[in-house]
Amino acid sequence: MDEAKSVVGGEDRSAHPQDFHARAIEKIMTAKFRVFATCDIGEAIQVLRDRGYQVEIYPNPEAPPKSLIVEKVRSGVHGLITTLRDPIDAEVFEAGKGTLKAVAQIAVGFDNINRADANRFKIPFTNTADVLTEATAEFAFFMMGMLARRMWSAEHLTRENRWGYWHPFLPFLGDEVTGKTIAIIGTGRIGLAMIKKCAGFDMNMLCYDPAYENHDYVKAIQETMDLRHARGISRDRNWIKYVPFEQALREADFVSVHVPLLREGESKTPTFHLFNEQTLRMMKPAAFLVNTSRGPVVDESALAKSLRENWIAGAALDVYEREPLPADSLLRDPAIADRCRLMPHFASAARITRLSTDPNQGMAGRCVQGLIDVLERNYGGDVARMPYVVNKEAFNK
Ligand code: NAD
Repeated sequence: MDEAKSVVGGEDRSAHPQDFHARAIEKIMTAKFRVFATCDIGEAIQVLRDRGYQVEIYPNPEAPPKSLIVEKVRSGVHGLITTLRDPIDAEVFEAGKGTLKAVAQIAVGFDNINRADANRFKIPFTNTADVLTEATAEFAFFMMGMLARRMWSAEHLTRENRWGYWHPFLPFLGDEVTGKTIAIIGTGRIGLAMIKKCAGFDMNMLCYDPAYENHDYVKAIQETMDLRHARGISRDRNWIKYVPFEQALREADFVSVHVPLLREGESKTPTFHLFNEQTLRMMKPAAFLVNTSRGPVVDESALAKSLRENWIAGAALDVYEREPLPADSLLRDPAIADRCRLMPHFASAARITRLSTDPNQGMAGRCVQGLIDVLERNYGGDVARMPYVVNKEAFNK
């Protein structure tokens, strides 16, 4: 095994291999970093321990209280491994003044971390983008299919012994996904992966993103769809285009949301309650909403109303305004159960995606590599060059 490779991830090691080897070993000898992880991230923790790190893991599956995170940081840890349920803000950074060097988040979304506070205290934080892109997109696609084809209701019919006959339309029918039009809201990493999957199902696509339009990608997808049609693989010639938000909502049969949670003041186009009474009413009564982004992007009380009053045909959700979903959530209303699929923030919950120790495959691997980069000053200590650091703007020279 290439030891240097595993030790000095991210450094140019081609020039003087022996120097690199020596520096790598020196790093191991001097690495006495202390890390507190707010959750267990599996074997990847061993990667840190093998390098001499002292790692303490919060043992319970639930989130630790914030007071405990503050206490651990105050006790002098250098690195903090966090998840999307841990509020990380000035109180935490203040407690870590002089000792805390990095926060490594095992998730791509980082709305739980106050970026302005991190920048003020000059603490880099990392995320695990890319490695969960395909898993999240395929889950969004599966949720969409499950909702539209009414698989939950259909399985209940079987299990509850109410499957009495085969009939052309009784007791109910679902809606096909193939050949329909989907609106992709947010064409970042996961939105683009969703487009790729929808293209495989001969769907037409209305894309919306106020900050990032990837016309090359859209053109390439159009070309592949044209080829499929020309070669007789797809019956119809499917299409894809960027459109304004309202048009996407008004014309789509499915709307799939792939935006970050951005509150007022965090962006010119905030996404908090992007789906509310007004925008849900723009959707067709036969349309379905799929949300794998963040819960507060959808106003849940407006959504529950839209389902009860049939403004839209259904919704499949993986994320909620409050997680875990409270027992008294309006979304649990039995009257809408057949039209409302509720998943437990599960879209990235696949074995390799979550736990692989390889930073190019797993969130756990990428999380620890992000931490190692900062603590061991890889990339010549230039935080702005470290690939997994999010708030590079605080470190640009
Ligand atoms: P990304 O940053 O690559 O893409 C997000 C896109 O949304 C960007 O292109 C951005 O321009 C766009 N956007 C911003 N504001 C918008 C607006 N008002 N309207 C439409 N588009 C807007 O992020 P990503 O890797 O694709 O992840 C997207 C989000 O998905 C994450 O921030 C995270 O919250 C969520 N997520 C959830 C799960 C899950 O388990 N359910 C897993 C992974 C990611």
